[in-house]
Amino acid sequence: MEIVRNISLKPYNTFGIDVTAEFFLEVTNEQMLPAITGDSSLPLQRCVLGGGSNILLTKPVTGLLLHNRLRGVEVIREDENHVWVKVCSGEVWHDFVMFAISKGWSGIENLALIPGTVGASPMQNIGAYGVEVKDTIESVSFWHWEENRFITYSNTDCDFGYRDSIFKHELKDKVFITAVVYRLNKTPNFNTSYGAISQELEKMGVTDITIRAIADAVIAIRSSKLPDPKEIGNSGSFFKNPTISNALFDALKEQYPDIPSYPVSDSMVKVPAGWLIEQCGWKGKREGDAGVHAKQALVLVNYGAATGAEIWNLSGEVLTSVKNKFGIDLEREVQIW
Ligand SMILES: Cc1cc2nc3c(=O)[nH]c(=O)nc-3n(C[C@H](O)[C@H](O)[C@H](O)COP(=O)(O)OP(=O)(O)OC[C@H]3O[C@@H](n4cnc5c(N)ncnc54)[C@H](O)[C@@H]3O)c2cc1C
Repeated sequence: MEIVRNISLKPYNTFGIDVTAEFFLEVTNEQMLPAITGDSSLPLQRCVLGGGSNILLTKPVTGLLLHNRLRGVEVIREDENHVWVKVCSGEVWHDFVMFAISKGWSGIENLALIPGTVGASPMQNIGAYGVEVKDTIESVSFWHWEENRFITYSNTDCDFGYRDSIFKHELKDKVFITAVVYRLNKTPNFNTSYGAISQELEKMGVTDITIRAIADAVIAIRSSKLPDPKEIGNSGSFFKNPTISNALFDALKEQYPDIPSYPVSDSMVKVPAGWLIEQCGWKGKREGDAGVHAKQALVLVNYGAATGAEIWNLSGEVLTSVKNKFGIDLEREVQIW
């Protein structure tokens, strides 16, 4: 096993934060995981890095950082309506979406262009444009560091929620996700409920909707709205959209008649965090090289040399001002390291 010492993680995180990892190892096959557990010369503290598109590095990474390079895609079952595809966790998510589209398998086309790896997709139940990946996940397999064995969880075992799963709680830092099985549809079930998609399809002159057309529309919308990490460091949405009670929402609506919302249940609504942050005057604000993006207030950015601590501090100021103005507690979506 080829361990690299004190490597800069700048190319390995989309925020472009320059900190080092003490011990860095590329994991290229599953059997390395039992070997790592059994090797007493290796640090016991371990963490897993995929595409680095949902982390904020606030300090050097101590212990062993495992960079996921597990590759492979395999159809393991199919029937008249569905196909079950096992995808190794180091595959690039967007490449898998494009592969599925090329085969005519639907279910994940709305999730095109989300950066990162397949292994991180169950972690926070990635979602966009009216679709969450949990609706296509059949099972998730992982190596459990403490139990010293490979385990497979079914969809229900994973406790999926909005940008949430068991992997962010009970199993946080305890597992290396090795593969995910997705159940995709052979007959497409188009989801164009998100207004922007129908508008984009219309703009593109699409009359016969296909999964490829939906992915193209999503790619066009995302490219126009979200900053490209290759040009400006960021981790996508930094905060989750908060869910609040109808009572709080009604009180806020009297003061802020334009406040947007989406129903979640009979008693709760979701409010876009970007709107709340914008109302607090943060859109386009910059503190040194840390900033709130000028087009999308939900996205914090690194203009070049910001440290993780500076971005963390800025996120804290945003949280405080939203709490003071609206009485709402925002939660960070990005994992803080
Ligand atoms: C421009 C941009 C747009 C984005 N848009 C969206 C969006 O629309 N919807 C959305 O949901 N997210 C979005 N994201 C966030 C991000 O792309 C996803 O959360 C993605 O799934 C992260 O994948 P990753 O491989 O980069 O994970 P990393 O950042 O490498 O890791 C994230 C966390 O998952 C853990 N992890 C990763 N892989 C494994 C594994 N194999 N086993 C165990 N733990 C693991 C890590 O330890 C870490 O805690 C966006 C990010 C960017 C930069």
